[in-house]
Amino acid sequence: MAAAEFAANQLAYPGTDQFDQVRWLKCAEFGVQGLMIPTEYGGAGRSAVEGALTFEGLGLGTSDNGFVFALSSQSFAMQRALVTAGSEEQRRHWLPKLAAGSAIGCFAMSEPEAGSDTGAITTTATLNPDGTYSLNGAKAWVTLSPVADVIVVFATTDPSKGHWGITAFILETDRAGISVGPLQPKMGLNTCPFAEVTFTDCRVGGTDLLGNVGAGGSVFSGAVEAERAFLYAAQMGSMERVINLSIQRARSRQAYGQPIGKFQGISHKIAEMKLRHESARLLIYKAAELYDRGGSMTMAGALAKLQTSEMAVQSALDAMRIHGAAGYTSEAGVEAELRDAIGGLSYSGTSEIARNLIARMLRVDRPIRTARPSKPPEV
Ligand SMILES: Cc1cc2nc3c(=O)[nH]c(=O)nc-3n(C[C@H](O)[C@H](O)[C@H](O)COP(=O)(O)OP(=O)(O)OC[C@H]3O[C@@H](n4cnc5c(N)ncnc54)[C@H](O)[C@@H]3O)c2cc1C
Repeated sequence: MAAAEFAANQLAYPGTDQFDQVRWLKCAEFGVQGLMIPTEYGGAGRSAVEGALTFEGLGLGTSDNGFVFALSSQSFAMQRALVTAGSEEQRRHWLPKLAAGSAIGCFAMSEPEAGSDTGAITTTATLNPDGTYSLNGAKAWVTLSPVADVIVVFATTDPSKGHWGITAFILETDRAGISVGPLQPKMGLNTCPFAEVTFTDCRVGGTDLLGNVGAGGSVFSGAVEAERAFLYAAQMGSMERVINLSIQRARSRQAYGQPIGKFQGISHKIAEMKLRHESARLLIYKAAELYDRGGSMTMAGALAKLQTSEMAVQSALDAMRIHGAAGYTSEAGVEAELRDAIGGLSYSGTSEIARNLIARMLRVDRPIRTARPSKPPEV
């Protein structure tokens, strides 16, 4: 797999948690950021299946899950929103730069007081008499924001309408009234920086609107629905890497005069890891294939996200058990896999929100309508 080979040769964990701009450019040269950008905007115009295959390869090839997460976050959330909702001018301006790696993009919906409940965001876009808007508020945990050149930001233009009062904007991050930082330290994915982004009377004009006024909720849902499935392709690749590490350990570590892989308690753990990985894989490619055929992604994306993120954590925990104390040290890299995997339980929506979506699609919450008793016939 070319992407796995590229990642193994070029994207090995650098040993520091600094975001590496040179490697970002190398990835653009290899075609990662432009993979799913249409050809007329400087990309390769590849399908979602090809996109997922590439990110699976990247996740398999390197243990630098943070860097691969950064690449997927831009590709599957920020760029998707721009490709699907951007004006011709916005696409022509930003997409070739994003594909070439000369611009980095981020996507800001979550706020310190509103994560899952996006209808409760309090960042406002207030209409000025001259037709511009003033953005005020703070966004939290914005992936890549400390290094980004362009931001897609969601603000409310009508707080009384909740989700339907949200509007999306796209603007450069050095616009007056935007401040980024400080860096928010986190548990894992450390080569991918995230931070708070604050807007203070930041002026945005009509050309900065991404889609129509009040359409931000659907711009967000559309991008996140796709993101939910594809962002996890890389995590699925790293699940395979964790299986390989565990097999190696099971074969090489001796206890009671034999390789630990001869103990059923160990070998069955690895069999379960394989099952989790394959089921995540089938769900992700089913979602990608549906996307390419223009089908609805809500159920497939939520199932793929839920299975991959939860199972990646389970498998990383099993890898820790298989590695014993060595796994608990930083040297073996297994504890980092667990810390990185845990991020997947929250980004792109939590597991509970995915379960809510699945249950809603199955109409679990709808009472069964019982037929009204018919009147007894009149005699
Ligand atoms: C590594 C990482 C990168 C991220 N990058 C970005 C980014 O680039 N841009 C961005 O906008 N955001 C980003 N986020 C934020 C992410 O989108 C939020 O963490 C996520 O939406 C959940 O919001 P929250 O953390 O505020 O949790 P909350 O919404 O506060 O939820 C807390 C708990 O309550 C549960 N809960 C909430 N509502 C319900 C419900 N209706 N039913 C059942 N349970 C519920 C949740 O499942 C969770 O367990 C990132 C997060 C991480 C970890």
